Amino acid sequence: MSPVPMLLGCFLLLYLSEFLVWVRSDAWLFRRRGRGWEALTQGGLISSSRGSLHWVYPVPQMGRAYSVRTSAPTGSTGSTALRAPIDTAFSVVEIGRRYQSVEEAFQPLRWTSWCLWGLVWIVCPVLLKFLGLPSTLWILSSGALILMVTNACLLARIHGKIFSEFGDERLRLVLSASLSPLAAIRSLDLAQKMALDGFHPLAVAAALPGFQGWETLAADQWRRLRYSVTSENPAGGTPVDAPSSVEVRAAIEVLARQRGVDPALWDIAPRAEDPAHTQYCPRCRTQFTRQATLCRDCHWTALLPICR
Ligand SMILES: [Zn+2]
Repeated sequence: MSPVPMLLGCFLLLYLSEFLVWVRSDAWLFRRRGRGWEALTQGGLISSSRGSLHWVYPVPQMGRAYSVRTSAPTGSTGSTALRAPIDTAFSVVEIGRRYQSVEEAFQPLRWTSWCLWGLVWIVCPVLLKFLGLPSTLWILSSGALILMVTNACLLARIHGKIFSEFGDERLRLVLSASLSPLAAIRSLDLAQKMALDGFHPLAVAAALPGFQGWETLAADQWRRLRYSVTSENPAGGTPVDAPSSVEVRAAIEVLARQRGVDPALWDIAPRAEDPAHTQYCPRCRTQFTRQATLCRDCHWTALLPICR
């Protein structure tokens, strides 16, 4: 194989690797799906107890993803939203405002990101075809250098203004965007990854345009809170001013009613999927035969009778 297709192939692999996103295990990832959004709470390309790796669309702006933690970390000094009262954490209006304001603030990076994208994927192959490798590399590196310096300056300024408390994250983003044109293309979206952190994930799902499957996620979270198990609330793991599960459940119910969903339906006993099933786990809705004494997945022992 000649060096030109090999060079472009290597570039493509490196480029695609930029569109993998690591998410902590205590966070939800919101990524683009078609014209709307979807939430990922588990699974991924690689997953461990610390987190999971997910892909996003490999195009600037369509590769946007938001990481939203399910609870504020102990001793956090993060954004005001992390310590926000529960009505703010569940405010769809507030989330929409935040989403818009961050999006608008980072608008200048759109130009540098798309110009670099065009330079790498349109100008570079054309120049390689007509000018050969040495001249192309010289033109490409000069153009990329100008755009990368502009991108890094804009990134540092805007990120400092919007996320003043995330100094380490800013340094990491600016350094990687200064060293690689592919990372610079990606910086527009990566800089906004934590924009909605601090709000409740279900409220974020309700606020994002075109989000699919809200009710399923809400019902699942509501049941986890209604039938919570002690292993999910380790001693010392919850901040003292964190809202109680009853408050969070009530806020989910309010949000559901605003969306025309009756939360009472989430707790109704299911119909038997198999004639042998006589009881079910109220947390995960798994059905069991008469002999079962607990749900192994949830460690829930008080199984309830099924609807006949
Ligand atoms: Zn269960």
